[in-house]
Amino acid sequence: MRYISTRGQAPALTFEEAMLSGLARDGGLYVPETIPQMSADDIRALHGLSYEETAFRVMRPFVGDGFTDEVFADLIAKAYAGFGHGARAPLVQLAPGHFLLELFHGPTLAFKDFAMQLIGQLFQEALERRGERVTIVGATSGDTGSAAIEAFKGLDNVDVFILFPHGRVSEVQRRQMTTPAEANVHALALDGHFDDCQARLKDMFNHFEFRDGVRLAGVNSINWARVLAQVVYYFSAAVSLGAPDRKVSFTVPTGNFGDIFAGYIAKKMGLPIDRLVVATNQNDILHRCLSSGDYQTSEVHPSISPSMDIQVSSNFERALFDAYGRDGAAVAQLMDELKAGGFKVSQGALEALREHFDSGRVSEEDTLETIRTAHATMGELLCPHSAVGVRVAEAQRDPATPMITLATAHPAKFPDAVEKASGIRPPLPNRMVDLYERPERVTRVQNDLAALESLIQERIAK
Ligand SMILES: *Cc1c(COP(=O)(O)O)cnc(C)c1O
Repeated sequence: MRYISTRGQAPALTFEEAMLSGLARDGGLYVPETIPQMSADDIRALHGLSYEETAFRVMRPFVGDGFTDEVFADLIAKAYAGFGHGARAPLVQLAPGHFLLELFHGPTLAFKDFAMQLIGQLFQEALERRGERVTIVGATSGDTGSAAIEAFKGLDNVDVFILFPHGRVSEVQRRQMTTPAEANVHALALDGHFDDCQARLKDMFNHFEFRDGVRLAGVNSINWARVLAQVVYYFSAAVSLGAPDRKVSFTVPTGNFGDIFAGYIAKKMGLPIDRLVVATNQNDILHRCLSSGDYQTSEVHPSISPSMDIQVSSNFERALFDAYGRDGAAVAQLMDELKAGGFKVSQGALEALREHFDSGRVSEEDTLETIRTAHATMGELLCPHSAVGVRVAEAQRDPATPMITLATAHPAKFPDAVEKASGIRPPLPNRMVDLYERPERVTRVQNDLAALESLIQERIAK
C-alpha cells in the first residue's frame, strides 16, 4: 500500500513514512493510492467482535508490512486499554431512528483520543525500531493538543510542542495541556486564532531546513494515520445497527473535516453509508461551500463549540482531490487561490461531493437550545459540539434510514456552556478530578515563525 500526495508533486510513501512525516513535501496531504475493499461478508463477520478486533480488521490492509500482525494487534490493545468504557465507542439511542455514538470515553474526553492513543503507540514502535527521534509540533483548537500530549508524554524518542490560541480554549482543555509534568511536553499559548496556529505549523513544514533539522513530525489530522484510526468506529457503529444488511447515515460535528472524511473512507471501503452530514457552528465555510460551491474564508467567530472554530478546513483537500478525479495539479491550483481568500468548486466536483455529503449550520442560540431539549427529552447531556450535530441530524434525517450522530466530546469538557443551557454542571469523571489542582506549565508565544522555530530548537537542544 502506497500513499500519494493530493498535490501530485511529492514522492509516494509507505504507511509508516507517511505517518512519520505528516504533511507531504509539496504541501499536499497523503491519501492511499487505492482503497482496500471489505465485502459484505467481511463486514458481516465483524458482528460480535470487540472494538479492538474490529480495529485490526479494518485498518490492517492500510498499514502494510512495517508492522507484523502480532505487533499491530498488540499496539491496538495498548491504545484503547486506558478508555473508561469497555465498548470504547458505545452507541446509545436518542429517539426512534436516531443514535448517538459516544466517542468521549478516552483519557482526554474527546474523540481525538481514538486516533492519538493509537498513533502514540505506532510512533513509539516505529521510532524504536529505526533508532530515530522526532519533534512533533501540533496546532490545536483545544482537543487535539490535549490528546496528543496525553499520547506522547514521557515517550523517549519524541518531543511534543503544542500551539494553542491563547485565551480561546476551555479551562479543562488548557489544563489538560499545561499540567502534564513530563519534560518532553511543551504547551505554547500563541497570540492569535487557531487558524494562525495551523498556518505557522504549515510554515514550519514548508521550511525544509528547519523541518529536516529538527526532524519535524505532525500529528494534526493532516496525518493520514489519524484519519485511518477514525474509520474504525464508523464500522463498529454501523455493524451494531445491522450493516451490511441495513444502510445507515452519519452526522458529524465538523471543523477540519478529518472525522467526517474517515466516514467517507469507510463508505469507499464498502460500508453501506447513505448520507454523511457535515454539521458546522456559525463558522460555516464548509456548509456554505457544499451549498453554493464557494469556499471563501472570512473572520473566525469564537463560539461555544470552540473545537469547530476554524475557517480553513485542512482535510477538505482530501475530499477535493477525489472530487476533481484525483488531479493533483487542479488541487494545487485551488490551494493557491485559497491563499488569496478562496476558490469556487467546479460544477462537476461539487456534484461529486454532494453524492456523499450534506451539510447544515447551527447558531449559538440553537446549540444551547439543543443541549437543553436533548437533556429534557432524550435524557442525554450533550457537549456543545455534539449538540450541533444532533440539531442538524434532527432537521435532516430521513426516517427510513437510521441516523448516527457522533458525540465528539464529553460535556464535562465544556461545563460553562452546558451549565448555561441546562442548569447542570457536568462533573469530570473520577479519574481526572484533581485536574484543577495540578500546577500548570505554559509558554506564551508570539504569532511569529522565526521566534517559534528558535524556541523549539533551543528546547530540543537541552
Ligand atoms: C476536533 C473536534 C471536532 C472537529 O473534528 P474535525 O475532524 O476537525 O472535523 C468536533 N468536535 C470536537 C469536540 C473536536 O474536538
